[in-house]
Amino acid sequence: MNTKEKDLQYIMHTYGRYDVALKSGKGAVAYDENGKRYIDVSSGIGVNSLGYCDEGWINAVTKQAGTIQHMSNYFYSAQASDLAEKLCKLTGLAKVCFGNSGAEANECAIKIARKYSFDKYGAGRNEIITLQNSFHGRTVTTLSATGQEVFHNYFFPFTEGFQYVEADNIEALKSAVGEKTCAVMLEVVQGEGGVNILDKSYVQSVAKLCYEKDILLIIDEVQTGAGRTGKLFAHEHYGVKPDLMTAAKGLGGGLPIGVCLCGEKLKDVMSPSTHGTTFGANPVVCAGANYVLDTIANETFLNAVEEKGRYLEEKLLSLDGVKGVRRLGLMVGIEIDGDAHDTAVKCVENGLLIITAKDVLRMLPPLTITTDELDEAVCILEKTLKEN
Ligand SMILES: *Cc1c(COP(=O)(O)O)cnc(C)c1O
Repeated sequence: MNTKEKDLQYIMHTYGRYDVALKSGKGAVAYDENGKRYIDVSSGIGVNSLGYCDEGWINAVTKQAGTIQHMSNYFYSAQASDLAEKLCKLTGLAKVCFGNSGAEANECAIKIARKYSFDKYGAGRNEIITLQNSFHGRTVTTLSATGQEVFHNYFFPFTEGFQYVEADNIEALKSAVGEKTCAVMLEVVQGEGGVNILDKSYVQSVAKLCYEKDILLIIDEVQTGAGRTGKLFAHEHYGVKPDLMTAAKGLGGGLPIGVCLCGEKLKDVMSPSTHGTTFGANPVVCAGANYVLDTIANETFLNAVEEKGRYLEEKLLSLDGVKGVRRLGLMVGIEIDGDAHDTAVKCVENGLLIITAKDVLRMLPPLTITTDELDEAVCILEKTLKEN
């Protein structure tokens, strides 16, 4: 059996895959098992932030794998404490809780928000307001948090205590807030929901409302974090400070990590045995994330992300068949005339690894992509759109 046949036989069918078996990669270029070359503007859904097989990242990770590959959370780990210190100093937040995925990081944020409220106000003040079109993960609780009806199916009963309001509508939020509200959770740019960039004044009004009522503001930066939008974290574009922030995808540079950070007010909410995960804070994973942060957390790198994004946007807007572009940094949604999914499939056949979000084509290229590679990507898209 070849890779595809074996996959279809033995792996549960939870993904509709492209008809490609990837084998290797370097930077923004990937190769399949037949040696065919692809430009990758998806970077494993924003995970390979430094591209495939960055030399420095490989060194950091392999060195740590050959030193100590895992220890339980009952021991202190320099890689984890270094990473936590960096994250806190870079965000102005106070403490970190480690996990292994975006969904887990969001579960952690939800638990902290509810416990804070329970400790301070007693039982019952536990509702969390999220936005329509949001995406917060695939566990039963984060599906509940996700404001899209399509996700609220089959797996009943879902976790109670979530309410959904229209994005960019502060009046809708004001009328949804009640005695039982303990938190508001949002992505400042909705990724899976179609690359919807929230209004700055809306997000600031949400933060103000939360602050006045001691409602916690949870910002899900699982997709927008780690330099993706041209700031280290996307909420910096908005001039707000979250009480809780989660990050995952691009933070590890290709290894599974999820972090939940909290501000000063929440730093002692969690106590021993209130939360944990065996693999969380794994030293190899943390070594990868330390390397990613050391590489991206500076003006020069982050400004280049925005510059490349602007360059890409201009090129895309000049193409026939492109109706519009929604973009922050290198997080890009492309409105096209034809069907986004069909177009993405054809792009892949033509050598461009691209994904979709709702009805837009979505690009999340490695932050290290070159302008030549962006040119090549746009060229393949142009050719594909002509075939439509
Ligand atoms: C991908 C994503 C998640 C879920 O992350 P996993 O690592 O797949 O669990 C949560 N929130 C946002 C905004 C995401 O983009």
